[in-house]
Amino acid sequence: MDGTLLAILSGRDRPGVTTALLDSLRHTRTVVLDMEQLVVRGRLILAVLLGVGAHDVGDVRAIVHEVAVRVGMEVETVPGANEVVAARRGRIHVTVIGSPLPPGAVADLTWELADRGWNIDRIRRIASYPVTAVIFEASGDEDVVGLRRALAERSRVLSVDVAVQHAGLDRRGQRLIVMDVDSTVIQDEAINLLAAAAGQADAVAQITEEAMHGDLDFAESLRLRVAALEGLPESALAEVAQAVTLTPGARTLCRTLKRLGFHVCLVSGGFEEVVVPVTSGLDIDRIRANRLEVVDGRLTGRVVGDIVDRVGKRRALEDFAAELGVPLSRTIAVGDGANDLDMLEAAGLGVAFNAKPAVRAAADTSLSVPYLDSVLFLLGVTREEIEEADAADVSR
Ligand SMILES: [Mg+2]
Repeated sequence: MDGTLLAILSGRDRPGVTTALLDSLRHTRTVVLDMEQLVVRGRLILAVLLGVGAHDVGDVRAIVHEVAVRVGMEVETVPGANEVVAARRGRIHVTVIGSPLPPGAVADLTWELADRGWNIDRIRRIASYPVTAVIFEASGDEDVVGLRRALAERSRVLSVDVAVQHAGLDRRGQRLIVMDVDSTVIQDEAINLLAAAAGQADAVAQITEEAMHGDLDFAESLRLRVAALEGLPESALAEVAQAVTLTPGARTLCRTLKRLGFHVCLVSGGFEEVVVPVTSGLDIDRIRANRLEVVDGRLTGRVVGDIVDRVGKRRALEDFAAELGVPLSRTIAVGDGANDLDMLEAAGLGVAFNAKPAVRAAADTSLSVPYLDSVLFLLGVTREEIEEADAADVSR
């Protein structure tokens, strides 16, 4: 077959359009080379690329137009030569998340892609609420790191989130997620709540702020803050755990990742005594956090064992990955603070979640929407898939 005919049908979606088109071609000398179909708000776009002998193009075209009239669709047919198409190289997925998603922002991002030699092959919507998320599948030979950096810079100005990832098997194979806890999985900074209980709120909040911006060594700042808790009754730990609020989407994220077969681990510069009860319903596989020393029912103002700081968080990621047999390239780390930076850098995909500017600037990807389950959209999981899985679970 030396020729092709591209048939594009569009119009109000109804059952049987694809069947009618292909059935009418059943006895012709054509082959299907490619097909794509898309439905947006009840409007169908169906594209079929047929391999056709050059002498048959006219007849096949007439059949396609006749079918289109019969099923009430608009039609366009484009004849061409049947040539071998080179495999697309350098395939990437660019996920764009907005709440809302302004057209001008999308225009700027797609312009940047085109300007750098990337071609958009396919566009898919993966969520329409509470955020709008779209994946652009693109191909090109240009450098991905440069594109990621350029799009990250633009996304900051445009107030949308953008993630650039290589397409292919590695992306599907990510099987370990390690998340920070304070201001990531939970909305609070537990140390601040403990400090309030100890009547040291202002002093500790000031140190926390400086530590999170990277202005103060984390281990030293932690020692200073824990020292301020000296004498606090142990019972305050359970009270603080009660007062903590999970971040919206945290349950959905953990539940869905477990269904996908992920190991879900937490690493915290906060305290095991708070993290464990707060996240007990999330089916977490491993937790590493600091531990507060208690003597005679009161905090001593000291930490037990090694402090989980910036280096400790990265080490936790590496240890979890080794223990669970997952290569680092297939890990995801999520965090918001300066002490998460090493872990975000070491992971296959580092996601800054509602992060401070210094963290956002250094991470592969950042999410600025306040829903933790938006991490799933970076993995290409759609809102519909999440809801279907939840519905199936309820009916089981
Ligand atoms: Mg944090």
